[in-house]
Amino acid sequence: MNSLSAEIAGVDRKGIILAVNDRWQAFAVENGLEPGQAAPSTGVGTNYFAVCGPGTGACTGDALSASMGLQAVLDGRLERFNLDYPCDSPTQERWFTMTVMPLGQKVKTGAVITHTDITERKQAEEKLRLAARVFSDAHEGITITNPQGVILDVNAAFTRITGYSREEVVGQNPRILNSGRQDMAFYAAMWRSLTETGHWSGELWNRRKDGVVIAELLKISAMRNADGSTLQYVAHFTDISERVTAQARIDTLAFYDPLTNLPNRRLLLDRLDQALHASVRHKRKNALLFVDLDNFKTLNDSLGHHQGDLLLVQVAQRLKTCVRDGDTVSHLGSDEFVLMLEDLSVDAMVAANRAEAVAEKILSAFILVFALDQGGHHATPSIGITLFGALALEVNEDPLRRAELAMFQAKAAGRNTLRFFDAQMQATVSAHAALEADLREAVQARQLVLHYQPQVVGAGRMTGVEALVRWQHPRRGTVPPADFIALAEETGLILPIGQWVLETACTQLAQWAHLTIAVNVSARQFQQADSVASVVDTLARSRARPKLLKLELTESMLVDDVEAIIAKMGALKAIGVTFSLDDFGTGYWSLAYLKRLPLDQLKIDQGFVRNIVTEPNDAAIAKMIMALAESLGLAVIAEGVELQAHADFLAHLGCHAYQGHFFGRALPLGEFEALVARDSDRSTG
Ligand code: C2E
Ligand code: MG
Ligand code: MG
Repeated sequence: MNSLSAEIAGVDRKGIILAVNDRWQAFAVENGLEPGQAAPSTGVGTNYFAVCGPGTGACTGDALSASMGLQAVLDGRLERFNLDYPCDSPTQERWFTMTVMPLGQKVKTGAVITHTDITERKQAEEKLRLAARVFSDAHEGITITNPQGVILDVNAAFTRITGYSREEVVGQNPRILNSGRQDMAFYAAMWRSLTETGHWSGELWNRRKDGVVIAELLKISAMRNADGSTLQYVAHFTDISERVTAQARIDTLAFYDPLTNLPNRRLLLDRLDQALHASVRHKRKNALLFVDLDNFKTLNDSLGHHQGDLLLVQVAQRLKTCVRDGDTVSHLGSDEFVLMLEDLSVDAMVAANRAEAVAEKILSAFILVFALDQGGHHATPSIGITLFGALALEVNEDPLRRAELAMFQAKAAGRNTLRFFDAQMQATVSAHAALEADLREAVQARQLVLHYQPQVVGAGRMTGVEALVRWQHPRRGTVPPADFIALAEETGLILPIGQWVLETACTQLAQWAHLTIAVNVSARQFQQADSVASVVDTLARSRARPKLLKLELTESMLVDDVEAIIAKMGALKAIGVTFSLDDFGTGYWSLAYLKRLPLDQLKIDQGFVRNIVTEPNDAAIAKMIMALAESLGLAVIAEGVELQAHADFLAHLGCHAYQGHFFGRALPLGEFEALVARDSDRSTG
């Protein structure tokens, strides 16, 4: 018994110590033996109860328990008594356990008392308790698995995050959380890292019990034995879905169109760039399909933007069904969609055939009506196609622009059809670019001139003129406005050109006493924030009388922000400027708008005048315009009057103001003034 590490003593029925081992002896000398007692007097012959029993004065709670325990064992009331108690040495926190076992069978003849130092065990237990608290109270989810990946334990946070209770997952593999979003290679890499380094950390998608997929930040560490073999894996994870969702939303906004969820222009250009680079390597051709809806603006204007949006969303869905998985269907905005088909073929002919097949498929996808709030709506697309990648022409013109030009050709060809970009278009594009460069010089180089065309009443009395711009190109000769006004509008050059026209016309106006001048104002020009101020300034500087200035607007400008236009017209009318609505009848107009516009005159488009005598439809429209003007209290002038018959027919409808070749062509200033002088000579002479 002396070899044991415990202190052992035998006591008799009364508690008198009969024998002790060496350790007891040694310990008693070094320390107070009994729980809570300082002075040792525990040799053989001492009554153990006297050391720690009641009335000793030195009793702590533990000493009292010890003596009561010993008594109970000696009385045969307890088979065995056990007590853990603290017993600090001057230098160390310590724990002991006291055990009392009876001697004798039925009648107890005594007992064996042992005291064992359990400090190490207590510390280990304490550590475990702490670890357990960390485990259960952690915010992070924790999963503990065996080396084979079978779940041994999870904490409360695991349940909170995943929705699975401890009972549901213990014995399972963490695979039950698999969202399917990571591939085999992902997990293979994870296991490789775990077996090689003992660690893995990263982000992954897991599926909660309720099916919701969440993003997790996960750290796995291997717990190793002394011999290096893996004992357990401990995985810590947090739910970072919110952060990931916020990031994803930012990415989505930057690269996707919010209405259709399709890639936007930015993402398309990005992919286009990648495709171009890739095709330089593998020489395979790709295609861009520019899809533009026909008459979308009309739908938007007549049924409202909400219906327009409904249509766009459905179009997006149908377009997606027309392409392969790797292809891109993007939405540039408004009614413009661009599809990018990659890796079609090395052979341009084959690639073109494939692209055409997809375009045909798109045309068929539009056969079924689209569901709008008030019922089925029939829509059609115009499609422009161009191949790109590994082509000779790549250097000159960007593919998106080529596809768009081809789309314009499809529109011009009557809509609901497809067109390929070809060399002819390329030539037009190049010519266009050259013209644009020249046009930039035109105002500075004084190449613009105004021609004046008479506006008359009755049998031909001139009341004023329309100022029509001409471009005296140094090499091309006179360029008519039809060939450059659209280009000027597109490039913004219409602003300096329009200002030049207005200034020139007003300067001229100040020279003439009685004639009015009608000046064409393009939408873009009138939409400028300072358009009112610049007209007022120009009039003031030229000293022209505002009453003699007539501005010709077109219906196309009345589509956007009518309120602003009405306000601007009102401001100019207040100083005397008058307004005529040009090309009336050809565009989109609504009676509601017309009623509110402070107009003075409607100008019947020459398209209705040309065949007014022979075409009942044209005559009917002219008649209707007359009725409309009358009800709105507006004057009417007809343009393109080339024949006496035209004038007669119009007079018969009640229209007595005319402009056209029959009364006079547009002439340069010198010729026009000569004509006026001759006329006045004739009338005075
Ligand atoms: P518009 O304002 O409708 O001008 C009438 C056009 O019809 C003019 O063509 C004129 O020369 C032409 N025309 C006049 N009488 C007859 C006729 O009896 N028969 C035929 N077949 N045509 C006739 P032009 O000068 O070529 O101008 C074309 C268009 O270019 C104009 O149409 C106008 O929209 C635009 N434009 C002309 N000058 C300007 C300008 O200074 N600024 C802006 N923004 N646009 C202009
Ligand atoms: Mg005009
Ligand atoms: Mg006109």
